[in-house]
Amino acid sequence: MMKVAMTIAGSDSIGGAGIQADLKTFYALGVHGTSAITAVTAQNTAAVEGAYYLPPEFVGQQIEAVAKDVPVAAVKTGMLASADIVREVARRVKLHGLDANLVVDPVLVSTSGHLLLDNDAVDVVKHELIPLALVITPNIPEAEVLSGKKIKDIENMKEAAYLLHKLGARNVLVKGGHANAVDVLFDGTEYRIYQPEVRVPGSFHGTGCTLSAAIAAELAKGGNLVTAVEKAKSYVTGCIKNHLHLGQGAFMIKH
Ligand code: PLP
Repeated sequence: MMKVAMTIAGSDSIGGAGIQADLKTFYALGVHGTSAITAVTAQNTAAVEGAYYLPPEFVGQQIEAVAKDVPVAAVKTGMLASADIVREVARRVKLHGLDANLVVDPVLVSTSGHLLLDNDAVDVVKHELIPLALVITPNIPEAEVLSGKKIKDIENMKEAAYLLHKLGARNVLVKGGHANAVDVLFDGTEYRIYQPEVRVPGSFHGTGCTLSAAIAAELAKGGNLVTAVEKAKSYVTGCIKNHLHLGQGAFMIKH
């Protein structure tokens, strides 16, 4: 039977990141994609021009409608917008037993510099959502905010992964894309260091969303975490190699 994955994230009108990237990724990787939309952004390749947050209880209602009807094998979270939405998502994940394969992409700021999570929600993500996660996938700026540690090299990435694991995430993937392109995966015991396959010059929109969605898709199909991360990384690398230059700002990756 077709496996089901869910994304709990924001809509991106230009179709490069957020819900749109997640559903394309689920489709490309052969799982049925479902969604609970947290916020709608007016956005293009250059900027996030506006964001409209949905009421937290309506985010919860979307999750419930899906979870009571189909077996959701894996979930990813992306843009969660406000503290109350984060609280509702954490509550629903527990209520509907969605934490076994929960991938938390702790989205804070877009590549174009727009805040995608209110400042007062950061502590709620740390203490209510991260402890439920099978894996969290911060980039370097996100790992710095969440761990309180400045990251300059791979040793610092490992230290941040260690601190984030202590918050209760079962695994931590610190993504070095913004700096050295090295990724560090920590399971509480062992560090795996991934050197970049290729470095394609340019700024790309939607890579983080796509990676966490691809991990969720691979988990939904029954893969273990390490295999899911490795397959997801190679999926994103393929999408980056096939990027599109459609707008005035960042390149969009192609699924
Ligand atoms: N917009 C939405 C709705 C998102 O969920 C995200 C990332 O999670 C972004 C924008 C940021 O995308 P990027 O930083 O890749 O441009």
